Amino acid sequence: PQEWPGKGFIMSFEELQLAAPIQKAIKTCGYTEPTPIQAKSIPEVLSGRDVIASAQTGTGKTAAFMLPMLERLSTMKKGPKGAPRVLVLTPTRELAAQITDATRNYGKYLKIRSSVILGGSSYVPQFRDLGRSIDLVVGTPGRLIDHLERGSLDLSRLEVLILDEADRMLDMGFKADMEKITAAAPTERQTLMFTATMDRTMENLARKLLNNPVRVEVAGKRVTHDKIAQHLHVADDVRHKKKLLRHLIDDRKLTRAIVFSATKRGADRIAKELSADGHRAAALHGDMSQAARNKTVKNLRDGRIRLLVATDVAARGLDVNGISHVINFDLPQVAEDYVHRIGRTGRAGASGVAISLCNAGEDAIRLRQIERYIGHNLPQQVIEGLEPNRSLQKSEPKSKQGRSRSQNRNGGRSQGNKTHGNNRNKENRGGFKGKRSAGPKKKSGIEVVYR
Ligand code: AMP
Repeated sequence: PQEWPGKGFIMSFEELQLAAPIQKAIKTCGYTEPTPIQAKSIPEVLSGRDVIASAQTGTGKTAAFMLPMLERLSTMKKGPKGAPRVLVLTPTRELAAQITDATRNYGKYLKIRSSVILGGSSYVPQFRDLGRSIDLVVGTPGRLIDHLERGSLDLSRLEVLILDEADRMLDMGFKADMEKITAAAPTERQTLMFTATMDRTMENLARKLLNNPVRVEVAGKRVTHDKIAQHLHVADDVRHKKKLLRHLIDDRKLTRAIVFSATKRGADRIAKELSADGHRAAALHGDMSQAARNKTVKNLRDGRIRLLVATDVAARGLDVNGISHVINFDLPQVAEDYVHRIGRTGRAGASGVAISLCNAGEDAIRLRQIERYIGHNLPQQVIEGLEPNRSLQKSEPKSKQGRSRSQNRNGGRSQGNKTHGNNRNKENRGGFKGKRSAGPKKKSGIEVVYR
């Protein structure tokens, strides 16, 4: 491993003195400077240390681990069959596919033998790839274990293990699989763990799997979404939600949206109904074949689809630019997923809109968890003619200060900085400007939007 004088941040890619083909690829990608996660992690990864990094998708975390991996792989001869030097473990097939794409871009001027080993895909190319000398494997836990057990994958020569979105792998029940895989790798390996959240569970996992790791955190643990206008609509029932959805997607500013559904069947149903209404809509969920999912994502990317109705798992790691709106038709089960979801919009400096539809009754607790997690309340909007009969605060207990939810819901904030909240409100209004005949009207602290 290389020594890095005065370890820590780097300011430019040149400082890293990566192999010329990698530098050339970085230029081809159009990257002019490292993102914060890259500036902080790449020197540490190159130095050979274990790293635990909290970073969300969209921060450039893939290059943060892949560039130093390519540097490592650029310098060695052929190894034995089916025994990769680097393994990237990911929770979902989509994320694996994205890492593979990124690797192809970053490694385009290198000869790296890599393979992607995913569940739900044919074994034939996997056996073929693993039957040869291989440098890098990207895969999901289940199928990798399958290959380990069949003897087609050998991890005894692994140099670096990367756990991407480790928190998500835990959420998805892959803990035992992760441990099995790490147990099959040499103890003196380098381990890199990337996670969107850093809580006690993650700390414990890191303690188990990593050796004296360097911690890397990029500013704002829960990524602030300054550029994303967030608000919510209260709905009486599913029919009401559908009416709201129909209204919301008529917004001309909505160029490309992801509509989140709690279930696969729900996603299918909504996509079907929207298509029947003449919208360019499609579903994305785990029951679809890999080929169908790839095609759908491509259609979204290419603009053939305007509305993607997805489940959390399917949309995880989805990296499509130009998503103008995220609509939570169903609130996420887990507060963190709210942040993952809305992070699909407002990418690459663009602004975005995140709208949550919330059931007046049963969603109140979930909403409160989300608001606590993000550190501020979601301002409520009401569309004239589509007002809810029930109000959210009725089903909620009084807060500690004895203040009712409605007083606290004026787009106000329970904590955090004020400017941020004000900006958000401004953005909210901007997002709906075209729909209004007059300026914003306040109705008991709720912003009214005209149809
Ligand atoms: P990731 O967090 O790895 O999913 O990356 C998010 C997006 O940022 C991807 O579209 C990358 O191509 C892009 N990206 C990664 N590193 C840089 C960089 N240094 N400069 C500009 N864009 C980058």
